[in-house]
Amino acid sequence: MKNIVIFGAPGSGKGTQSDKLIDKYGLGHISTGDVLRNEIKNGTELGKTAKSYIDKGQLIPDELMIDILANVYDSFGKEHEGVIFDGFPRTIPQAEALKKMLATRGHRVAAMIELDVPESELMQRLLLRGQKSGRSDDNEATIKKRLDVYHDQTSPLIDWYKREGIHNHIQGLGELDRIFADICTVIESL
Ligand code: ADP
Repeated sequence: MKNIVIFGAPGSGKGTQSDKLIDKYGLGHISTGDVLRNEIKNGTELGKTAKSYIDKGQLIPDELMIDILANVYDSFGKEHEGVIFDGFPRTIPQAEALKKMLATRGHRVAAMIELDVPESELMQRLLLRGQKSGRSDDNEATIKKRLDVYHDQTSPLIDWYKREGIHNHIQGLGELDRIFADICTVIESL
């Protein structure tokens, strides 16, 4: 199992690069944002709870998110060589829980890949995405909040994964294909 954490601020390109990785390596893809948006679309209780946080640019509480993640991971079964975690973990407790959850299954995260993109670029990309996707959280006020949450709660994971010895920095500004090639170099070295 080659489990990969694709990591970065909102708008850093995690989803775009994940799609390319899935095509090339046949990895499974767990996007917690997509999982939550699907629950919202289906009008479930979980979706209602999730929407109240997402529309404010806040994170869903850790305990709830960790449960969801373990369920989705298990439902993937053994059909993939590994999974890309996209949007999870977003806090240190989530990273610790992920490590534990995988260890009890005899699995682990092989690499954390950080897509590093400057803040001014993130804001532009997300505003543009909002115009196209109509995502309710891609408006200026909510984007600002999400970037603050990223700095406060999520970016400490960079040092956490450095201590785990599996952090890989990727320059996330520039040509899509160059960024993808840099990611592939990391994956192929595993
Ligand atoms: P982006 O990375 O562009 O912000 P996502 O689709 O990954 O978009 O996430 C959208 C929203 O879903 C987040 O702002 C947050 O409210 C919620 N969310 C997604 N993943 C998590 C997570 N691991 N923990 C808590 N909340 C999450």
